[in-house]
Parts: sequence; C-alpha cells; structure tokens
Amino acid sequence: MNQTHTGSCLCGTAKFELIGEFKKFFLCHCSRCRKSSGSAHCANLFAPGAELIWLSGADKLSFYKHQETNFSRTFCSVCGSNVPTEIKARGIVVVPAGCLDTSLELSPQAHVFSGSKGNWDDGFADLPVFDGMPS
Ligand SMILES: [Zn+2]
Ligand SMILES: [Zn+2]
Repeated sequence: MNQTHTGSCLCGTAKFELIGEFKKFFLCHCSRCRKSSGSAHCANLFAPGAELIWLSGADKLSFYKHQETNFSRTFCSVCGSNVPTEIKARGIVVVPAGCLDTSLELSPQAHVFSGSKGNWDDGFADLPVFDGMPS
C-alpha cells in the first residue's frame, strides 16, 4: 500500500516527500556505512518504485558515489545530514530512517554486513539506558 512519508535534514534546508512503500529496513554495518555515518551502522529503508519529491533544498544536495562500488549517498551540503538517494538504475529509493519526520510502522528486519562491524560494536542490548546524557 502506498503511503506518504515526509522527512528533512538537520538544518531544515532539504525537505522531501516520499510516496511509496518501504519493503526492507536494514541496519548496515559495512565499512562504507560506518565511515560515512561515523557510527556503528546506517539504518536504511528500501522503497522500490517509490516517488521521491524534493519540497525544498534540491539545489543544496550533494551526491557521493564511492569509486568502483554501488555505494552512494545524498546529503545536505549545508549540514551534512544523510537524506534519501534515488538509485534510478535499480528503480529504488534508499531512505536513511533517521531523516524521517513521519512515524514508521516497520521495525528493522536485520543487521547486514555484520562481518564488517567495528570491534566495539557488540553487546549494545545489555547497556544501561538514559533518557538524556547522564551527568
Ligand atoms: Zn541540512
Ligand atoms: Zn552499508
């Protein structure tokens, strides 16, 4: 079923609407996702056949494709936030879950490229949880 989702970057320059359906939701621990996010993994939604409409900031988007790989990402050139990437050759839109402003009915379905994860990336389920930064 098609749904409309909206999202934006941190500074609010880039705003988008996505019409379609998220079919997959993966936490990717590959080295490219680690480097580009600076974190343990990316949280990517995959929407085949979805329509991506830029409501603002289309002229401020930057695109990076990693040499000789399929890895690419689109980001706001003002604040650096990852935003959706339309992969036309595969007819798919990849959406970083963190940039969505609408809620999701889907939960992550799998950790992928777990073999590439950082040696500190383990046992997160056992960590204490705080509402904010502990003092
Ligand atoms: Zn921005
Ligand atoms: Zn990855």
